[in-house]
Amino acid sequence: MISHDDLRQLQHYMSGPDSLILSLYVNIDQSNAANLNRGFETNVEGLFRQVAESQNSNEGSKKRFDVECQHIRQFLTGYVPKGKALVVFSDSKQDFWWQRDLQVELPTGVRWSPEPWVRPLLEVIEETDRFGVVLIDKHRARILAADAAGIEQQAEILSDVPNKHATTGTDHIWSQGQMDRDHTKHVQWHAKRVADELALAIDRLKLSRIVIGGPVEATSVFISTLPKRIQQMIIGTVTTPVDAGHDRLVAELRAVQEKAEHQDEAKLVDALITAAMKGERAVLGVLDTLNAIQQGRVYKMVIARDFRVAGKECSSCHVLVSDGDEKCAFCGEKLEAAPDLINRASRRVLDMGGKVQLVSGEAAAQLGEAGVGAVLRF
Ligand SMILES: [Zn+2]
Repeated sequence: MISHDDLRQLQHYMSGPDSLILSLYVNIDQSNAANLNRGFETNVEGLFRQVAESQNSNEGSKKRFDVECQHIRQFLTGYVPKGKALVVFSDSKQDFWWQRDLQVELPTGVRWSPEPWVRPLLEVIEETDRFGVVLIDKHRARILAADAAGIEQQAEILSDVPNKHATTGTDHIWSQGQMDRDHTKHVQWHAKRVADELALAIDRLKLSRIVIGGPVEATSVFISTLPKRIQQMIIGTVTTPVDAGHDRLVAELRAVQEKAEHQDEAKLVDALITAAMKGERAVLGVLDTLNAIQQGRVYKMVIARDFRVAGKECSSCHVLVSDGDEKCAFCGEKLEAAPDLINRASRRVLDMGGKVQLVSGEAAAQLGEAGVGAVLRF
Protein backbone atom coordinates (compact mmCIF):
# COMPACT_ATOMS: atom_id res chain seq x y z
CA MET A 1 0.00 0.00 0.00
CA ILE A 2 1.04 3.57 -0.48
CA SER A 3 0.76 5.30 2.87
CA HIS A 4 0.57 8.97 3.70
CA ASP A 5 4.19 8.72 4.84
CA ASP A 6 5.21 7.46 1.41
CA LEU A 7 3.60 10.45 -0.21
CA ARG A 8 4.99 12.83 2.38
CA GLN A 9 8.45 11.61 1.46
CA LEU A 10 7.78 12.73 -2.10
CA GLN A 11 6.38 16.06 -1.00
CA HIS A 12 9.49 16.59 1.13
CA TYR A 13 11.78 16.36 -1.84
CA MET A 14 13.84 19.53 -1.65
CA SER A 15 13.02 21.46 -4.77
CA GLY A 16 15.44 24.28 -5.33
CA PRO A 17 16.65 26.54 -8.13
CA ASP A 18 19.13 23.92 -9.33
CA SER A 19 17.29 20.74 -8.32
CA LEU A 20 16.37 18.36 -11.11
CA ILE A 21 14.53 15.13 -10.62
CA LEU A 22 13.69 12.41 -13.08
CA SER A 23 10.10 11.16 -12.81
CA LEU A 24 9.37 7.95 -14.68
CA TYR A 25 6.10 6.09 -15.23
CA VAL A 26 6.35 2.85 -17.19
CA ASN A 27 3.70 0.36 -18.16
CA ILE A 28 5.24 -3.05 -17.35
CA ASP A 29 2.08 -5.17 -17.59
CA GLN A 30 3.31 -8.59 -18.67
CA SER A 31 -0.06 -9.42 -20.23
CA ASN A 32 0.82 -6.77 -22.82
CA ALA A 33 2.91 -8.47 -25.52
CA ALA A 34 5.01 -5.34 -26.12
CA ASN A 35 6.32 -5.56 -22.56
CA LEU A 36 7.44 -9.18 -22.73
CA ASN A 37 11.14 -10.02 -23.10
CA ARG A 38 11.89 -6.82 -21.23
CA GLY A 39 10.28 -4.71 -23.96
CA PHE A 40 9.54 -2.08 -21.31
CA GLU A 41 13.28 -1.33 -21.17
CA THR A 42 13.17 -0.42 -24.86
CA ASN A 43 10.22 1.85 -24.10
CA VAL A 44 12.17 3.60 -21.37
CA GLU A 45 15.12 4.13 -23.72
CA GLY A 46 12.75 5.75 -26.21
CA LEU A 47 11.44 8.10 -23.52
CA PHE A 48 14.96 9.01 -22.39
CA ARG A 49 15.86 9.83 -25.98
CA GLN A 50 12.80 12.07 -26.36
CA VAL A 51 13.69 14.04 -23.24
CA ALA A 52 17.37 14.27 -24.26
CA GLU A 53 16.42 15.62 -27.68
CA SER A 54 13.99 18.18 -26.31
CA GLN A 55 16.51 19.67 -23.91
CA ASN A 56 17.97 23.04 -24.68
CA SER A 57 21.71 23.49 -24.84
CA ASN A 58 22.26 23.54 -21.08
CA GLU A 59 25.30 21.24 -20.85
CA GLY A 60 25.14 20.85 -17.07
CA SER A 61 21.53 19.70 -17.14
CA LYS A 62 22.27 17.32 -20.02
CA LYS A 63 25.11 15.72 -18.14
CA ARG A 64 23.02 15.29 -15.03
CA PHE A 65 20.21 13.81 -17.08
CA ASP A 66 22.64 11.24 -18.52
CA VAL A 67 23.78 10.31 -15.02
CA GLU A 68 20.16 9.92 -13.88
CA CYS A 69 19.27 7.77 -16.90
CA GLN A 70 22.27 5.57 -16.19
CA HIS A 71 21.13 5.20 -12.59
CA ILE A 72 17.70 4.02 -13.72
CA ARG A 73 19.14 1.71 -16.39
CA GLN A 74 21.19 0.02 -13.70
CA PHE A 75 18.11 -0.47 -11.56
CA LEU A 76 16.11 -1.85 -14.50
CA THR A 77 18.78 -4.47 -15.28
CA GLY A 78 17.94 -6.33 -12.09
CA TYR A 79 14.29 -5.37 -11.97
CA VAL A 80 11.61 -8.05 -12.11
CA PRO A 81 8.20 -6.61 -13.12
CA LYS A 82 5.59 -7.18 -10.42
CA GLY A 83 2.43 -5.49 -11.51
CA LYS A 84 1.17 -3.19 -14.20
CA ALA A 85 3.15 -0.01 -13.72
CA LEU A 86 6.52 1.04 -12.36
CA VAL A 87 6.98 4.48 -10.84
CA VAL A 88 10.41 5.98 -10.11
CA PHE A 89 11.53 9.37 -8.84
CA SER A 90 15.28 9.78 -8.88
CA ASP A 91 17.73 12.56 -8.12
CA SER A 92 21.07 10.97 -7.28
CA LYS A 93 22.65 14.37 -6.62
CA GLN A 94 20.42 14.64 -3.55
CA ASP A 95 20.50 10.91 -2.90
CA PHE A 96 16.80 10.79 -3.54
CA TRP A 97 15.18 7.55 -4.77
CA TRP A 98 11.52 6.55 -4.63
CA GLN A 99 10.22 3.49 -6.41
CA ARG A 100 6.96 1.54 -6.32
CA ASP A 101 5.20 -1.12 -8.36
CA LEU A 102 1.55 -0.38 -8.98
CA GLN A 103 -1.20 -2.87 -9.71
CA VAL A 104 -3.07 -0.46 -11.95
CA GLU A 105 -2.49 0.82 -15.45
CA LEU A 106 -0.80 4.17 -15.89
CA PRO A 107 0.25 6.02 -19.01
CA THR A 108 3.97 5.83 -19.71
CA GLY A 109 5.97 9.03 -19.43
CA VAL A 110 9.18 10.72 -18.28
CA ARG A 111 9.87 14.21 -16.94
CA TRP A 112 13.11 15.88 -16.04
CA SER A 113 12.04 18.81 -13.94
CA PRO A 114 12.79 20.85 -10.80
CA GLU A 115 9.93 19.15 -8.94
CA PRO A 116 8.78 15.53 -8.94
CA TRP A 117 5.93 14.95 -11.39
CA VAL A 118 3.50 13.39 -8.91
CA ARG A 119 0.15 14.22 -10.47
CA PRO A 120 -0.37 10.88 -12.28
CA LEU A 121 0.52 9.03 -9.08
CA LEU A 122 -1.81 11.08 -6.90
CA GLU A 123 -4.63 10.70 -9.40
CA VAL A 124 -4.30 6.96 -9.57
CA ILE A 125 -4.23 6.69 -5.78
CA GLU A 126 -7.32 8.82 -5.52
CA GLU A 127 -9.17 6.91 -8.19
CA THR A 128 -8.33 3.39 -7.13
CA ASP A 129 -10.75 1.82 -4.71
CA ARG A 130 -9.18 0.68 -1.48
CA PHE A 131 -10.22 -2.86 -0.68
CA GLY A 132 -10.48 -4.46 2.70
CA VAL A 133 -9.99 -8.20 2.85
CA VAL A 134 -11.16 -10.29 5.81
CA LEU A 135 -10.05 -13.89 6.10
CA ILE A 136 -11.87 -15.57 8.92
CA ASP A 137 -12.41 -19.00 10.41
CA LYS A 138 -13.89 -19.91 13.79
CA HIS A 139 -11.08 -18.62 15.94
CA ARG A 140 -8.63 -16.75 13.72
CA ALA A 141 -8.90 -13.80 11.38
CA ARG A 142 -6.71 -11.53 9.32
CA ILE A 143 -7.69 -8.12 8.03
CA LEU A 144 -5.77 -6.85 5.02
CA ALA A 145 -6.05 -3.77 2.88
CA ALA A 146 -5.23 -3.39 -0.81
CA ASP A 147 -4.75 -0.32 -2.98
CA ALA A 148 -3.03 0.56 -6.25
CA ALA A 149 0.33 -0.49 -4.82
CA GLY A 150 -0.61 -3.89 -3.39
CA ILE A 151 -1.86 -5.63 -0.30
CA GLU A 152 -0.80 -5.34 3.33
CA GLN A 153 -1.91 -6.98 6.54
CA GLN A 154 -3.54 -4.61 9.03
CA ALA A 155 -4.58 -6.86 11.91
CA GLU A 156 -4.58 -10.44 13.09
CA ILE A 157 -7.16 -11.64 15.60
CA LEU A 158 -7.01 -14.82 17.62
CA SER A 159 -9.94 -15.76 19.83
CA ASP A 160 -10.13 -18.49 22.41
CA VAL A 161 -12.96 -20.69 21.19
CA PRO A 162 -13.59 -23.94 23.08
CA ASN A 163 -13.96 -27.13 21.09
CA LYS A 164 -17.37 -28.29 20.03
CA HIS A 165 -16.86 -31.81 21.37
CA ALA A 166 -15.28 -33.08 24.55
CA THR A 167 -11.91 -34.64 23.90
CA THR A 168 -10.90 -37.93 25.45
CA GLY A 169 -9.80 -37.56 29.02
CA THR A 170 -11.84 -34.43 29.69
CA ASP A 171 -14.22 -34.57 32.60
CA HIS A 172 -17.72 -34.48 31.30
CA ILE A 173 -18.80 -31.58 33.49
CA TRP A 174 -20.87 -30.04 30.72
CA SER A 175 -23.44 -31.81 28.65
CA GLN A 176 -22.92 -31.92 24.89
CA GLY A 177 -25.76 -29.42 24.41
CA GLN A 178 -24.14 -26.91 26.72
CA MET A 179 -20.85 -27.31 24.94
CA ASP A 180 -22.44 -26.69 21.54
CA ARG A 181 -24.11 -23.53 22.81
CA ASP A 182 -20.91 -22.35 24.40
CA HIS A 183 -19.01 -23.02 21.16
CA THR A 184 -21.56 -21.13 19.05
CA LYS A 185 -21.49 -18.18 21.46
CA HIS A 186 -17.71 -17.96 21.24
CA VAL A 187 -17.74 -18.13 17.44
CA GLN A 188 -20.16 -15.20 17.49
CA TRP A 189 -17.98 -13.26 19.93
CA HIS A 190 -15.02 -13.87 17.69
CA ALA A 191 -16.99 -12.65 14.65
CA LYS A 192 -18.04 -9.55 16.59
CA ARG A 193 -14.44 -8.77 17.55
CA VAL A 194 -13.35 -9.05 13.93
CA ALA A 195 -16.29 -6.91 12.79
CA ASP A 196 -15.27 -4.15 15.24
CA GLU A 197 -11.69 -4.32 14.06
CA LEU A 198 -12.85 -4.16 10.44
CA ALA A 199 -14.99 -1.09 11.12
CA LEU A 200 -11.92 0.67 12.53
CA ALA A 201 -9.81 -0.29 9.52
CA ILE A 202 -12.51 0.94 7.12
CA ASP A 203 -12.53 4.37 8.74
CA ARG A 204 -8.79 4.63 9.21
CA LEU A 205 -7.82 3.50 5.71
CA LYS A 206 -10.90 4.79 3.86
CA LEU A 207 -11.71 1.35 2.47
CA SER A 208 -14.62 1.38 0.06
CA ARG A 209 -15.09 -2.30 -0.77
CA ILE A 210 -14.77 -5.51 1.16
CA VAL A 211 -13.88 -9.05 0.13
CA ILE A 212 -14.41 -11.93 2.54
CA GLY A 213 -12.70 -15.31 2.61
CA GLY A 214 -12.71 -18.47 4.70
CA PRO A 215 -14.88 -21.51 5.42
CA VAL A 216 -18.59 -20.85 4.81
CA GLU A 217 -19.62 -21.57 8.40
CA ALA A 218 -17.40 -18.82 9.77
CA THR A 219 -17.96 -16.31 6.97
CA SER A 220 -21.75 -16.54 7.18
CA VAL A 221 -21.73 -15.91 10.93
CA PHE A 222 -19.32 -13.04 10.33
CA ILE A 223 -21.37 -11.42 7.56
CA SER A 224 -24.53 -11.57 9.69
CA THR A 225 -22.66 -9.76 12.49
CA LEU A 226 -21.72 -6.82 10.26
CA PRO A 227 -23.72 -3.61 10.25
CA LYS A 228 -25.71 -2.95 7.07
CA ARG A 229 -23.36 -0.21 5.90
CA ILE A 230 -20.46 -2.68 5.82
CA GLN A 231 -22.54 -5.54 4.39
CA GLN A 232 -23.30 -3.32 1.42
CA MET A 233 -19.59 -2.88 0.79
CA ILE A 234 -19.02 -6.59 0.22
CA ILE A 235 -18.30 -7.24 -3.44
CA GLY A 236 -17.36 -10.89 -3.32
CA THR A 237 -15.89 -13.82 -1.51
CA VAL A 238 -12.77 -15.90 -1.96
CA THR A 239 -12.11 -19.45 -0.84
CA THR A 240 -8.71 -18.54 0.57
CA PRO A 241 -7.99 -20.00 4.04
CA VAL A 242 -6.91 -17.66 6.84
CA ASP A 243 -3.24 -18.61 6.55
CA ALA A 244 -3.09 -18.37 2.75
CA GLY A 245 0.13 -17.10 1.25
CA HIS A 246 0.46 -13.73 -0.39
CA ASP A 247 0.45 -14.94 -4.01
CA ARG A 248 -2.66 -17.06 -3.71
CA LEU A 249 -4.48 -14.24 -1.98
CA VAL A 250 -3.49 -11.70 -4.62
CA ALA A 251 -4.57 -14.02 -7.43
CA GLU A 252 -8.00 -14.72 -5.89
CA LEU A 253 -8.50 -11.10 -4.99
CA ARG A 254 -7.68 -10.01 -8.51
CA ALA A 255 -10.40 -12.28 -9.88
CA VAL A 256 -13.00 -10.70 -7.56
CA GLN A 257 -11.72 -7.22 -8.36
CA GLU A 258 -11.90 -7.82 -12.10
CA LYS A 259 -15.44 -9.08 -11.81
CA ALA A 260 -16.41 -5.98 -9.84
CA GLU A 261 -14.65 -3.74 -12.39
CA HIS A 262 -16.52 -5.39 -15.24
CA GLN A 263 -19.79 -4.80 -13.43
CA ASP A 264 -18.88 -1.14 -12.89
CA GLU A 265 -17.95 -0.78 -16.56
CA ALA A 266 -21.23 -2.36 -17.66
CA LYS A 267 -23.16 0.05 -15.40
CA LEU A 268 -21.23 3.02 -16.77
CA VAL A 269 -21.88 2.05 -20.39
CA ASP A 270 -25.52 1.39 -19.59
CA ALA A 271 -25.93 4.84 -18.07
CA LEU A 272 -24.01 6.41 -20.95
CA ILE A 273 -26.23 4.82 -23.59
CA THR A 274 -29.44 5.70 -21.74
CA ALA A 275 -28.33 9.31 -21.29
CA ALA A 276 -27.19 9.63 -24.91
CA MET A 277 -30.53 8.28 -26.16
CA LYS A 278 -32.37 10.87 -24.09
CA GLY A 279 -29.92 13.58 -25.14
CA GLU A 280 -28.88 14.16 -21.55
CA ARG A 281 -25.22 15.12 -21.25
CA ALA A 282 -23.82 12.14 -23.11
CA VAL A 283 -22.84 11.28 -26.66
CA LEU A 284 -22.09 8.08 -28.54
CA GLY A 285 -19.89 7.42 -31.54
CA VAL A 286 -16.70 8.93 -32.95
CA LEU A 287 -18.25 11.95 -34.64
CA ASP A 288 -20.22 13.26 -31.67
CA THR A 289 -17.44 12.46 -29.23
CA LEU A 290 -14.90 14.43 -31.29
CA ASN A 291 -17.32 17.34 -31.48
CA ALA A 292 -17.78 17.30 -27.73
CA ILE A 293 -13.99 17.23 -27.23
CA GLN A 294 -13.64 20.17 -29.61
CA GLN A 295 -16.18 22.08 -27.50
CA GLY A 296 -14.38 21.18 -24.26
CA ARG A 297 -17.45 19.42 -22.89
CA VAL A 298 -16.10 15.96 -22.13
CA TYR A 299 -16.10 14.89 -18.49
CA LYS A 300 -15.34 11.23 -19.14
CA MET A 301 -14.51 9.56 -22.42
CA VAL A 302 -15.49 5.89 -22.55
CA ILE A 303 -13.66 3.64 -25.04
CA ALA A 304 -14.02 -0.02 -25.92
CA ARG A 305 -10.54 -1.41 -25.26
CA ASP A 306 -9.85 -2.71 -28.77
CA PHE A 307 -11.58 0.08 -30.65
CA ARG A 308 -9.35 1.67 -33.30
CA VAL A 309 -10.24 4.14 -35.97
CA ALA A 310 -8.19 6.30 -38.29
CA GLY A 311 -8.93 9.97 -38.87
CA LYS A 312 -7.25 13.29 -39.48
CA GLU A 313 -5.79 16.15 -37.52
CA CYS A 314 -5.59 19.74 -38.68
CA SER A 315 -1.98 20.83 -39.14
CA SER A 316 -2.85 24.29 -37.88
CA CYS A 317 -5.67 24.30 -35.31
CA HIS A 318 -5.21 20.61 -34.38
CA VAL A 319 -8.88 19.76 -34.52
CA LEU A 320 -9.46 16.01 -34.79
CA VAL A 321 -11.88 14.74 -37.41
CA SER A 322 -13.00 11.30 -38.51
CA ASP A 323 -14.03 11.92 -42.10
CA GLY A 324 -12.00 12.28 -45.25
CA ASP A 325 -12.09 16.01 -46.04
CA GLU A 326 -8.89 17.48 -47.44
CA LYS A 327 -9.17 20.77 -45.61
CA CYS A 328 -10.05 21.76 -42.07
CA ALA A 329 -13.64 22.96 -41.72
CA PHE A 330 -12.59 25.33 -38.94
CA CYS A 331 -9.53 27.10 -40.33
CA GLY A 332 -9.18 25.86 -43.91
CA GLU A 333 -5.68 24.49 -43.39
CA LYS A 334 -4.45 21.08 -44.49
CA LEU A 335 -5.59 17.95 -42.63
CA GLU A 336 -2.98 15.31 -41.88
CA ALA A 337 -3.50 11.59 -41.30
CA ALA A 338 -4.10 10.55 -37.67
CA PRO A 339 -4.02 6.75 -37.71
CA ASP A 340 -4.38 6.63 -33.91
CA LEU A 341 -7.33 8.99 -33.75
CA ILE A 342 -8.84 7.57 -30.54
CA ASN A 343 -5.49 7.72 -28.78
CA ARG A 344 -5.05 11.37 -29.70
CA ALA A 345 -8.61 12.14 -28.67
CA SER A 346 -8.17 10.53 -25.26
CA ARG A 347 -4.94 12.47 -24.68
CA ARG A 348 -6.82 15.64 -25.50
CA VAL A 349 -9.49 14.78 -22.92
CA LEU A 350 -6.85 14.16 -20.25
CA ASP A 351 -5.12 17.44 -21.10
CA MET A 352 -8.39 19.25 -20.50
CA GLY A 353 -8.72 17.67 -17.06
CA GLY A 354 -11.23 15.04 -18.17
CA LYS A 355 -11.13 11.33 -17.53
CA VAL A 356 -10.72 8.37 -19.83
CA GLN A 357 -12.19 4.98 -19.09
CA LEU A 358 -11.36 1.89 -21.14
CA VAL A 359 -13.97 -0.84 -21.01
CA SER A 360 -13.78 -4.46 -22.07
CA GLY A 361 -15.90 -7.60 -22.23
CA GLU A 362 -19.64 -7.12 -21.92
CA ALA A 363 -19.36 -3.35 -21.56
CA ALA A 364 -17.30 -3.07 -24.76
CA ALA A 365 -19.81 -5.26 -26.60
CA GLN A 366 -22.61 -2.99 -25.39
CA LEU A 367 -20.89 0.02 -26.92
CA GLY A 368 -21.10 -1.92 -30.17
CA GLU A 369 -20.28 -0.12 -33.39
CA ALA A 370 -20.15 3.24 -31.63
CA GLY A 371 -16.91 2.02 -29.97
CA VAL A 372 -16.61 5.23 -28.03
CA GLY A 373 -18.74 7.75 -26.18
CA ALA A 374 -18.54 10.46 -23.59
CA VAL A 375 -20.23 11.70 -20.48
CA LEU A 376 -20.40 15.47 -20.78
CA ARG A 377 -19.86 18.29 -18.34
CA PHE A 378 -22.65 20.37 -19.81
ZN1 LIG B 1 -7.89 23.70 -38.56
